[in-house]
Amino acid sequence: MDKQYTTDAINIKSYPLNDFDNILLMYSKTSGLIKCIAKGAKKPKSKLGARAQVLFANKLLLNKGKTFDKITQAQGLNTFSKLREDFDKLSYGLYCADFISIFCTDTVDESEKIYNIFYKTLENIGNSEDKKEILLQTLKFQLHILEELGWGIDFGICSCCGTEIKEYSYFSNEEKGNFCATCTKGNIKVQKIPKKLIDFLCTLKETSIEQKTKYDNIADLNTVSICFQFIKKYSEKISGRTQKFTDFNLIAS
Ligand SMILES: [Zn+2]
Repeated sequence: MDKQYTTDAINIKSYPLNDFDNILLMYSKTSGLIKCIAKGAKKPKSKLGARAQVLFANKLLLNKGKTFDKITQAQGLNTFSKLREDFDKLSYGLYCADFISIFCTDTVDESEKIYNIFYKTLENIGNSEDKKEILLQTLKFQLHILEELGWGIDFGICSCCGTEIKEYSYFSNEEKGNFCATCTKGNIKVQKIPKKLIDFLCTLKETSIEQKTKYDNIADLNTVSICFQFIKKYSEKISGRTQKFTDFNLIAS
């Protein structure tokens, strides 16, 4: 006997199962990452087909299965239409989805918080006015998800001696932490980060994803890009995976 349950979920990836059906990887509000069969999603007149698109949020009724859950009803919650109007917005939205699929594999207990961060970020990226804001929202997203998963960095404090970072932090990807000038001695693989950027990252991490920070308007594209790349590399070190993602504009600039 199948067990039924309802949840809100955002589609992350879609794979064909056969000529008619798709498999959907979704992030759900109640059960974290789930894999479901969207029966008939590939048929031209399927109602489910439209709702099975990547980065759509739906309210679902599901039957729990052994390998895959089966979608029996889907009601659209948000198509994030503004996110789809712009190539950059869509790219960074997909980057966030990929980030979720890598990091949030075993997160049933934190699923509501993670779902809300993901949902709000897709809205924030959609509402962004320029490239800097898109990057800023993606950076906030990464910091908040890492924090939820216990991978957050205490940027303001030396991971070794616990003193407050005064001028520069020396960040080590190998050691997954930041050091003060004294403790970093002899560690050659560190990245020197000025206090200004530390304050910026601390504020983004400590401000809820719904709220704007004092830096939202004053930070420039270069600063946000540097921080984004920095957190991306740190995340890749943790996961041991490189995220397949190319921002051609960032490379050109
Ligand atoms: Zn120290």
